[in-house]
Amino acid sequence: MSKSLPTHAQVVIVGGGIIGCSVAYHLTKLGWRDVVLLERRQLTCGTTWHAAGLVAQLRASENMTRLARYSQELYKTLEAETGQATGFHQCGAITVASNSARWEEIRRQASMASCFGVETHELSPAQAQEMWPLMQVDDIVGAFHFPQDARTNPTDTTQALAKGARMGGATILENIKVTDILTVSGKAVGVETEQGTIKADIVVNCGGMWARELGKKAGSRVPLHAAEHYYMITENLEGMHSNLPVLRDMDNHAYYREETGKLLLGLFEPDAVPWGQDGISEHFFFDDLPADMDRVYPYLEKAMQRIPALEHTGIQLLFNGPESFTPDDRYWLGESPETNNLFVAAGFNSVGIQSAGGAGKMLADWIVKGRQPIDLWDVSTTRMMSFQNSSQYLYDRTKESLGLLYEMHWPFRQYNTARGARKSILHDKLLAQGACFGELAGWERANWYAPEGEKAEYEYSFGRQNWFNWQAEEHQAVREGVGLFDQSSFSKFMVQGRDAEAALNRICANNIAVPVGKSVYTQWLNETGTIEADLTVTRVETDGFLIVTAPATHTHVHTWLKRNIAADARVVINDVTSGLMCINIQGPKSRELLNRVSKHDLSSEAFPFATLQEMEIGYATVKALRLTYMGELGWELYIPTEFAPHVYDLLVDKGRELGLKHCGYHTLQSLRMEKAYREFGHDLGADDTPIEAGLSFACDFNKSGGFIGKGALLKQKEHGVNKRLVQFLLEDPEPMMYHNEPIYRDGEMVGYTTSAMYGHTLGASVAMGFVNNEAGVNADYINSGTYEVEIAGKRYAAKASLRPLYDPKSERVKV
Ligand SMILES: Cc1cc2nc3c(=O)[nH]c(=O)nc-3n(C[C@H](O)[C@H](O)[C@H](O)COP(=O)(O)OP(=O)(O)OC[C@H]3O[C@@H](n4cnc5c(N)ncnc54)[C@H](O)[C@@H]3O)c2cc1C
Repeated sequence: MSKSLPTHAQVVIVGGGIIGCSVAYHLTKLGWRDVVLLERRQLTCGTTWHAAGLVAQLRASENMTRLARYSQELYKTLEAETGQATGFHQCGAITVASNSARWEEIRRQASMASCFGVETHELSPAQAQEMWPLMQVDDIVGAFHFPQDARTNPTDTTQALAKGARMGGATILENIKVTDILTVSGKAVGVETEQGTIKADIVVNCGGMWARELGKKAGSRVPLHAAEHYYMITENLEGMHSNLPVLRDMDNHAYYREETGKLLLGLFEPDAVPWGQDGISEHFFFDDLPADMDRVYPYLEKAMQRIPALEHTGIQLLFNGPESFTPDDRYWLGESPETNNLFVAAGFNSVGIQSAGGAGKMLADWIVKGRQPIDLWDVSTTRMMSFQNSSQYLYDRTKESLGLLYEMHWPFRQYNTARGARKSILHDKLLAQGACFGELAGWERANWYAPEGEKAEYEYSFGRQNWFNWQAEEHQAVREGVGLFDQSSFSKFMVQGRDAEAALNRICANNIAVPVGKSVYTQWLNETGTIEADLTVTRVETDGFLIVTAPATHTHVHTWLKRNIAADARVVINDVTSGLMCINIQGPKSRELLNRVSKHDLSSEAFPFATLQEMEIGYATVKALRLTYMGELGWELYIPTEFAPHVYDLLVDKGRELGLKHCGYHTLQSLRMEKAYREFGHDLGADDTPIEAGLSFACDFNKSGGFIGKGALLKQKEHGVNKRLVQFLLEDPEPMMYHNEPIYRDGEMVGYTTSAMYGHTLGASVAMGFVNNEAGVNADYINSGTYEVEIAGKRYAAKASLRPLYDPKSERVKV
């Protein structure tokens, strides 16, 4: 310990692993010197010291890839900057596929890599073997080389970050345990340590696998759970040298790299062992876990088939170390939704070394600027519900999440663990109809329905999956007849009080000062004019508004409301999600169906589009909202939960003669894609403005009082945009787009798809994606190009359109 404990600091960082040290380093780079990092034992003593040190570039999204690439750039120069060696070495990596499905997966990944700026080269099995002579390739279908991938020494790299932070003025203190996070009125104000108190303006929780317990002290959720993670190191093995690329053999759950003339073999077993559910010992530092040879033996056998030389090479070290996993294998980064000025960077799912540079830079920028520097929704602290911090949920999911890193990343893949947490009251009725459920935000939701006699189970592939034709029938029913969707998982908030209109109108880009009963589609923007939420606000009473949003955005929307409504405003926010179920009736025959269960006048004159009215259905009074996300005539029925089964039974009974069809979320997706309705988190986010997303119509620039982000949007309106969201339809009906497929305009890559689904009415895969052009993008630019979309390395001609390809004038919606 070099210095005594200060009484105050601008920022206190808890945890001296690679993440905490990176946050400290980057804060000092931005000129903040009053930064104190507290480590309960010694730097790197938690998980960091024993990491394998792989530094890959490609992640599942553009921004996550940007962060990983930044880490690499940083580690390259850190030694020269600080004088501390890092062991960084750009040895490259090879990923091999030993079956056709994996081959398609990595070819799709290689296409994605090209639009994220990651260099890849396809290799034949023989070429792969030439680069990795000890590898047996008889069963290999193909491989890709990532020449820029690297490895580093985690301990030395962390020490270099710590040294850089100290050089920038930060104070790093070891052997100081933080025992509490101090809060006042929902705001972090410092920490309590075993040696005394430090007051602070900002506290950052970088406590690794201890971060969940630490967060709880301030009422802040950090859903993560430790799991056992194995690697082994052999004795010296001829042919292993430091320039050998890292080798990933995901079909056998293994990765390999050289370690001082030996071979390091790491495992991502499909059935992991969660660890530390009852708390992690105080004495756990530079420690490992008991290793179970029987457990790893089956993987070792497979490894011997891949690297036959292993058969006669001894294992020098079998290592079992704990690492933190989150329920969706994405880390936590940002300000805590529950506690202002408390930031978190934890739960790194075995990619903490490669992520640390980028994550530390992003968090430091966020702290200094007061807002996220780029769209960090993938790793947002507001992407989950509070129940997902429960230890049982985390324990159960962690068995699956570790292995998923190397499992097939199938389209529509659903979790097998921690299921059944939240169910609509209609769940069992839908099950009886053949529903195949998927999970979102803990909700079990019908994704598609199997016909009688067929199993409601996914058979995954990259092509048309087993449900394709059944789902096509659901789609057709909504386009031509009537479909029923259970959308009870919608998150619903009532915002009420004398100041509700004024407060919400500042948050909403559209004008919500409308008559009672009117519904408004709007975005919520930040000061830079980019999108934080995409939802509907309906005035249900003079001083009361119903906000409906997607379940995955529940915490984000709630937090945004709380943070953007003045503390002294007369406004109350109530989460009414559980009290209101939602049955959505969509299709040209929806009016006819509702006329059969209610005497309410549903004509367009009496019940116009985008309005809400109370109506009686059987014994129930429901709030009916005439709206659509599917491009047809339809009503969302908001029903008090205990009445929902009764209303459902009536609808199903009366709908029989009309051919009413139960429809799932995959149908919702195919319908909304054809109508080019956007989805937050995919097509929209904090890197996009409504102008770029083609949503200017939902911004009211003339309303009194303005709205958050208006200034930035006005500037953009004046200068024009250099990207624009466009809808794409493949000319060939066969290929399947999912998302992240590169888009070419006149042979030049201009962007990638943000979401996609098969459009059964349009007769091919439909996608949305941004078209970028530095010199500006306007309708002429879009319309004058010839487009192609690349899928698994092959380009397909596509039609591009700024207007929805299905019902461009919305005539069907307003009949
Ligand atoms: C076997 C194995 C192999 C891996 N291989 C790779 C790899 O190849 N590439 C890669 O990118 N990642 C890899 N990882 C993952 C990587 O090691 C982690 O993601 C990363 O080290 C996490 O860093 P951290 O700073 O969040 O956690 P930690 O290193 O655990 O740091 C957290 C620190 O907080 C301290 N702390 C906790 N509570 C308190 C408190 N109350 N007061 C003060 N201090 C506190 C702890 O003592 C600890 O030092 C691997 C992990 C394992 C287990």
